[in-house]
Amino acid sequence: ALNIQGTTANVERLSFDFFQNEQTVTLCIYTSKTNFLTYQDIIILLNKATTFISFIYIDDIIHTIMVELFEPVTTDFNIRIATEKGRIEIELKKVQHKIWKMIGNFTDKHLSYCNIKNFDPLYFSVTLMERQQITHDTYWLKFSLQNGIHMHPPIGYHIRLKLNKNDVSLVKPYTIIGPLEGKLRRDEKVIDLLVKYYSDGNFTPLLKTLEIGEQAEMSVFEGNFDVYRLETCKILILIAAGTGFSPMMRIINNSFGETKQNLKNVVLLFFNKTQNDILFRKELTSLSQKNKNKFIYHNILSRPDSTWTGETGYVRGELLKRLLPKHDKKDQTLICICGPLAFTKLAATDLRAIGYSDDEMHQFLA
Ligand code: NAD
Repeated sequence: ALNIQGTTANVERLSFDFFQNEQTVTLCIYTSKTNFLTYQDIIILLNKATTFISFIYIDDIIHTIMVELFEPVTTDFNIRIATEKGRIEIELKKVQHKIWKMIGNFTDKHLSYCNIKNFDPLYFSVTLMERQQITHDTYWLKFSLQNGIHMHPPIGYHIRLKLNKNDVSLVKPYTIIGPLEGKLRRDEKVIDLLVKYYSDGNFTPLLKTLEIGEQAEMSVFEGNFDVYRLETCKILILIAAGTGFSPMMRIINNSFGETKQNLKNVVLLFFNKTQNDILFRKELTSLSQKNKNKFIYHNILSRPDSTWTGETGYVRGELLKRLLPKHDKKDQTLICICGPLAFTKLAATDLRAIGYSDDEMHQFLA
C-alpha cells in the first residue's frame, strides 16, 4: 500500500487538470517548483492500459497522481515540461479514437503526498538484459524497463530490487550507476546497477541465478542527495569503499563535462581490501591522467599483498589530512561518503575531527 496521508506541514498539494481531443488526452500537473523541474523528477507507471500512476518528486516530498482512466490508452506517451512555470503535461494516446465523456475516476491516492523518508515504494517488473563481469565478484547488471514506464533516477538515488523465493520476498537497495565517461542518453529505458555477489548472503546468491531475459521487481527510486550541490561546489571529495563506489560513478561522469566551470578539484579516495577488488582501476587511472590538475585519485588497501606500494589501512584522520587538499571553508567543499555503514560513520567522524562540518558532507546510507 502507498502512504497516502501527507504528514509534512506546509506542503502545497499539486493541482491537476486535463484536456482531450479524439486521439489524445493530456494530463496537466501544476507544481510550485519553478525553474528546477526536470524529467528526472517524474515517474510514470502505465503498465495497465487504464491505470495511470505518476510520482512527482519535489524537494523531499513525493506527490502521487493516480487516475483510473475512462478507456485504455497506449503505453507510448509524451511528457512536456514548462520548466519556468513548473507545469508538466503528459499526453496519452487513446486506443480508440473518440471523445471520452469523462477522464475516469480519481483514486483516493490522487493528489496525496508523502515525505520521501516515509514512502512505501511501489514495485514493477523489470527484465535482466545484460550481466558484465567487472571484478572477480562484482558485476554490472542492466535491467530494462517495460513500455509505459518512465523513470530516470537522479544522480545518487537508489532503487530496491525484490526477488521471490518460496513465497518469501527478499529486497536489497542498489544505487543507480552509469558509465564514468561519456554522454548519457535520456531516452534509454535501462537501469544500471553494480552488484557484488556474496557467497554467504541471502539475496545475492539468488540474484546470481537470475538469467538474462528473466524478470525481477524494482521499486521507484528513493534518496536524499541534493544533486544541485554538484553544480555549486568547488572541491568535490569522494570517499568510497568497495561497491560504495556506485553513487560516485555518475558523480564522476557529471564532473568532467565541458560545462563544469565550478569545479576546481575532484579527489577520489577509494578503499578496498585487495588490488583485485579495485573497481574500474584502468578507467579511473586513465581519467586522472587526462585531467591531471583536476582529478586526484588514491587507492587504499586494507589487505594489501607484498607487491602493493601504495596507501594501506582503514580510513583515519591522519590519512585524510595527508591526502586531501588543504581545507578552506571558503572553497565550497562537498564530500560524498559511501561504503559499509561502519566505514561511512568512521569517515564522517574522522572528517569532523580534522575540521570539516556536516554541511560539507553527504553520507550515502541506503
Ligand atoms: P568490502 O568489505 O570490500 O570493504 C571495502 C573497504 O571498506 C575495506 O577495504 C575497508 O577499507 C573498508 N571497511 C570495511 N569494513 C570496515 C569497518 N568495519 N570499518 C572501517 N572501514 C571498513 O566492502 P563491500 O563488500 O564492497 O561493501 C560495500 C558496502 O557499501 C556494502 O555494505 C553496501 O551496502 C554499501 N553500499 C551503500 C550504498 C548506498 O548507501 N547508497 C551504495 C553502494 C554500496
